[in-house]
Amino acid sequence: MNLILLGAPGAGKGTQAEKICEKLSIPAISTGNIIREALANGTEMGLKAKEYINAGKLVPDEVVIGIIKERLAEDDCKNGFILDGFPRTIPQAQALDEMGIVIDRVIDIEVADETVVKRMSGRRVCSKCGASYHLEFKKPINDGVCDSCGAELIQRKDDHPDTVLDRLKVYHEQTEPLKDYYEKTGKLKVVEGQEEVKETTALVFEALEN
Ligand code: ADP
Ligand code: ZN
Repeated sequence: MNLILLGAPGAGKGTQAEKICEKLSIPAISTGNIIREALANGTEMGLKAKEYINAGKLVPDEVVIGIIKERLAEDDCKNGFILDGFPRTIPQAQALDEMGIVIDRVIDIEVADETVVKRMSGRRVCSKCGASYHLEFKKPINDGVCDSCGAELIQRKDDHPDTVLDRLKVYHEQTEPLKDYYEKTGKLKVVEGQEEVKETTALVFEALEN
């Protein structure tokens, strides 16, 4: 199954991508995580992306399209994949189509802007493996430390409140039109993001089935 998760930043795409990954045994691919990893490793691509990502802007289409092309060519994508954070613009969606990739389902997780702002300010991520936590809703077992790898938890620069508002603006302008794009192909399922992760997961699993 080839899946796309759509939704505003902080809608919980990453969390749901992991749940689907466990259920269907297909890889969850997050362009955000790939870019942050490149940034941490100081690669050329990471350097190119740095100013955009920290300002809450989108990284240029040709850069992310290149990343996705390489990633989808890997062996583990043969039986399907979950895209989390790609496509984020119409040209990115067109690039997928041009690559001859058939998307089976697009799940859009809807969350109000106010909720996004609240969630992002409490979000903390692992500085090493990228796992995501929340000071209130998803606390790590030990304060400030990643459950799965033990590294330090940090706040992403782009999760600071001012930047979050910029990211929401970008979302509404550039990413939201993708709902129409996939509605037209009949692949879109809309799910209302719930307060409890597991409730959203139940809705997402339902959307996968019928
Ligand atoms: P979130 O879903 O919480 O917004 P991500 O980790 O998916 O966070 O993305 C963080 C940042 O990475 C984005 O704000 C953007 O700068 C960059 N990025 C990720 N995916 C894309 C994409 N498909 N196109 C352009 N930029 C992207
Ligand atoms: Zn970790």
